[in-house]
Amino acid sequence: QVQIRGLHKSFGKLKVLKGIDISIRSGEVVCVIGPSGSGKSTLLRCVNLLEQPTAGEIVVDGYLLTDRDADLNLARRHIGMVFQQFNLFPHLNVLDNVAVAQRKVLKTPKATARKVAMEQLEKVGVAEKAKEFPARLSGGQQQRVAIARALSMEPDLMLFDEPTSALDPELVGDVLTVMRELAADGMTMMVVTHEMGFARDVADRVVFMDGGVIVEEGQPADVLENPSAERTREFLKRVL
Ligand code: ATP
Ligand code: MG
Repeated sequence: QVQIRGLHKSFGKLKVLKGIDISIRSGEVVCVIGPSGSGKSTLLRCVNLLEQPTAGEIVVDGYLLTDRDADLNLARRHIGMVFQQFNLFPHLNVLDNVAVAQRKVLKTPKATARKVAMEQLEKVGVAEKAKEFPARLSGGQQQRVAIARALSMEPDLMLFDEPTSALDPELVGDVLTVMRELAADGMTMMVVTHEMGFARDVADRVVFMDGGVIVEEGQPADVLENPSAERTREFLKRVL
């Protein structure tokens, strides 16, 4: 469902991604782990073309995103992204934060957009905050609103870039629970995370990146508990 082939990304002289090849099946959850600066965020940002790849191909649902004639807005509609910082619109209440993309991008009538938004807010457990502004919510609640916002576009693929790293420890669990439910619902997900427990329990596959390449990938138990590469072992020793 997602195919990444020969992906390279450089910023000026700095080579950040040096040939990434990975395919993700529909409904698969892939967790990406690796040291700071290894290119994890750049990889996710290339997948929905927030960054323009220097070389390589990205195919989502048979649609070649890296084609120069590709309609990026059309393509991005099918990919939801959740960041470490929640990036909610501070001047819109929670309900409108979730409804606004449908209104602007899909031209959905207001009443329908709000109905869909409310359903998504219920799904992530913050429906009672619909009329509040983001600043009045906890970090965990804000992040769940950000997830609801991404889901409101009915994406085929969800990208998460360290979605719990900015949260107080006691709020991490609520967000991970929502992500577990999403995975159980069959959502295709690429998750950059330092939550090794989540990777072990939820991922179908764990990918370890270092220095802009995939060093090793496989079933969570293999990669996390019995890594074959020395670099993976070194990394895990530091984070586990
Ligand atoms: P972290 O775990 O700290 O989030 P990461 O694996 O996500 O790290 P990236 O953010 O992908 O790493 O960054 C990889 C490298 O690319 C870093 O050296 C970074 O400085 C560089 N880089 C990322 N974005 C840009 C940019 N827009 N311009 C120049 N260099 C960039
Ligand atoms: Mg990053």
